[in-house]
Amino acid sequence: MKRRQFVAAAAITATGVGVSACARKPAVTDAESLAGGATFRWKMVTTWPPNFPGVGTGANRLAEMLDLASAGRLKVKVFGGGELVPALEVFDAVAGGTAEMGHGASYYWKGKAEAASIFTAIPFGLNAAEMNAWLYSGGGLELWRELYAPFGVLPFPCGNTGVQMGGWFNREIRSVADLKGLKMRIPGLGGEVLQRAGGAPVTLPGGEIFTALQTGAIDATEWIGPYNDLAFGLYKAAKYYYYPGWHEPGSTLECIVSRKAYDSLPPDLQEILRVCCAAVNDTMLAEYNARSFEALDTLVDDHKVDVRPFPNDVLRYLRDLSHEIVRETAARDPSFAKVYASMSKFEAGISRWTAISDLAYLKTRSL
Ligand code: CA
Repeated sequence: MKRRQFVAAAAITATGVGVSACARKPAVTDAESLAGGATFRWKMVTTWPPNFPGVGTGANRLAEMLDLASAGRLKVKVFGGGELVPALEVFDAVAGGTAEMGHGASYYWKGKAEAASIFTAIPFGLNAAEMNAWLYSGGGLELWRELYAPFGVLPFPCGNTGVQMGGWFNREIRSVADLKGLKMRIPGLGGEVLQRAGGAPVTLPGGEIFTALQTGAIDATEWIGPYNDLAFGLYKAAKYYYYPGWHEPGSTLECIVSRKAYDSLPPDLQEILRVCCAAVNDTMLAEYNARSFEALDTLVDDHKVDVRPFPNDVLRYLRDLSHEIVRETAARDPSFAKVYASMSKFEAGISRWTAISDLAYLKTRSL
């Protein structure tokens, strides 16, 4: 073990951080021959457009970190949505062995297990910090692993967008009546809430959103927040930019790994994988928080975007529908009920703390 650590450290020192894959090659070869360990070459399929800022580059960063931290013993080639498999077939690709790893959002897989939605976000539920508290220190991650186990897939929290925006609308939302007939790209539980409010939700991968909005195939879309929405040019296809993202208050992204592939790794590479996913979970949130306000300034100042809050009565209505849908889903799906019971109990507890910590503190800034 000591020898392996020395070899890994030597390889990292010799190559430095951030040098090209090409420049790293000789050290990788040394590490391989000295350590005498197997080298793993994996594929990671993702639900994101290739190299997409934030979520997609987070997946790229994970692959780079795995290469460096393992001294080249775990090399992962990243594929954007549609490059190896379609974006919404990532879970099947990992479960079926087409790829060893995937990066995406669990709520895309609610058709396989309804409770999968919960591990991305629950409308009006936990924010990013609270979600991490539940996953890492409140029993959430154990439940996530249990849910994916029958598929032979192992999940790791691997990124967070923070609070998202409500979305881009070509229709003003002045009251709950304006939600009727609204064709909107909004996946997961948020989509079910819109449906109950009389709207028509659709699930589209990121790469198809702009055209659908521009051609009028949909009236509205949510995507992520200013950082990604600016990059997609969504301001060119819609009039109003509403907040807050009630449906995704702190969406967790996932890295999924084929259980069989994971079990083939030696323990140190398994630990490197876990630690690198946790690092990306943190750094992606930092990137979103840092880039979002800059992008919002650009949208408002340069592109004259009309940024509006949803009316309070609309938010109350959507919140009541959310609770109703979650309760009904729990009544018909035992595994959803189990996961939701854990999360809602945690939420009730941490909400009391958040009220007198973060919330109370943030209010003091505007006293
Ligand atoms: Ca979203």
